[in-house]
Amino acid sequence: MYNFLIVGAGLTGAVIAHEMTRQGKSCLVIDKRDHIAGNIYTFETEGICVHRYGAHIFHTNDPEIEAYVKQFSAFNRFTNSPLACYKNKLYNLPFNMNTFYQLWGTKTPEEAMLKIEQEKAPYQNGPKDSLEDYALSLVGREFYETFIKGYTEKQWGRPAKELPAAILKRIPLRFIYDNNYFSDNFQGIPVNGYTPIIAKMLEGSDVRLNTPYTQDLAKTANRIIYTGPIDEFFGYCFGNLEYRGLRFVTQTLDIPNFQGNAVINYTEGNIPYTRIIEHKHFAFGTQPKTVITYEYPAAWKPGEEPYYPINDERNNDLYQKYLQITPANMTFAGRLGAYRYYDMNITIIEALKLAKDLAQTPE
Ligand code: FAD
Repeated sequence: MYNFLIVGAGLTGAVIAHEMTRQGKSCLVIDKRDHIAGNIYTFETEGICVHRYGAHIFHTNDPEIEAYVKQFSAFNRFTNSPLACYKNKLYNLPFNMNTFYQLWGTKTPEEAMLKIEQEKAPYQNGPKDSLEDYALSLVGREFYETFIKGYTEKQWGRPAKELPAAILKRIPLRFIYDNNYFSDNFQGIPVNGYTPIIAKMLEGSDVRLNTPYTQDLAKTANRIIYTGPIDEFFGYCFGNLEYRGLRFVTQTLDIPNFQGNAVINYTEGNIPYTRIIEHKHFAFGTQPKTVITYEYPAAWKPGEEPYYPINDERNNDLYQKYLQITPANMTFAGRLGAYRYYDMNITIIEALKLAKDLAQTPE
């Protein structure tokens, strides 16, 4: 018998396995995929570290989480400075003085603020319930159509007029010339990618790949930590939770440099992908070839890889219903078990909290 059966060898499962192993507990970690690391899986090809499930940039403002990840790997100094491409013109992101200059030619913060006031003025007294109307009231039509409309409609697969304003929350505008996407104190990419971090975390645990969860496996441990989808575990007995899907198309090109930046977003509605990633630029690579990935948002059906939870009222209520029938010896965790979008830093915080609780729970 193991103390813990951990379903999922992603970041959540690996942090819990590491913490419990450190405390002398035995863990069996299973994953239905043929590799560890879940969605942060990276592999090497042509000497380039490829992010298999989309660009993953580590960032945190919490010195404890920074120290935690640095136990497992050194990190490079990558700074996320994506670009937006609209009608063949490039703009800096996040929205800052460079973006305003490229869009309108404004040079000072005062000019940029005045321009935004003029642009949004016609929409102040109109409705603000839909994402479109709300965005127009914040930034006006030209900014909205260049950066927000097409990109958001592709991401959600619905017209912005039909999307709730709540999705947008706010549009962060920076009145300084600063293309650093994250405002956290620490950001970077592990020097050998994420997979070696997970491998180190899993040292001391038994790991079985190509192994989906079964009731027989459940009998091998006192307690189960399940980091897969909660509705799938219960056979969708109350119905399925909804997600947005993604499709990645990766190509190796016989040129050293395709786009000169790690991430370029495509904000036009008629271009089907939302971004192109050029993996070598996450690590300042100088290899003779390059590897790029097109990221296509996609509708999702049960059984397909779930990416982004759709946390509306219906889905959140359904999630709670599943949670209430959870057996006493089980805990659901991670982005799928919790049905939340978690960045990696938050995934680690949540997993460490759970590990602490588990250490105090009698078996
Ligand atoms: P997962 O990585 O999904 O691991 C769950 C594992 O469980 C999977 O390996 C799965 O195969 C396995 N599993 C599921 N069901 C079963 C079953 N029945 N039996 C056996 N195994 C099972 N975060 C950042 O901080 N920075 C970023 O730049 C960033 N970019 C992202 C980009 C994209 C496109 C996405 C979708 C997420 C991004 N994230 C980013 C978030 C990051 O991916 C998550 O924080 C992290 O992957 C969560 O880890 P997890 O272990 O909870 O889930």
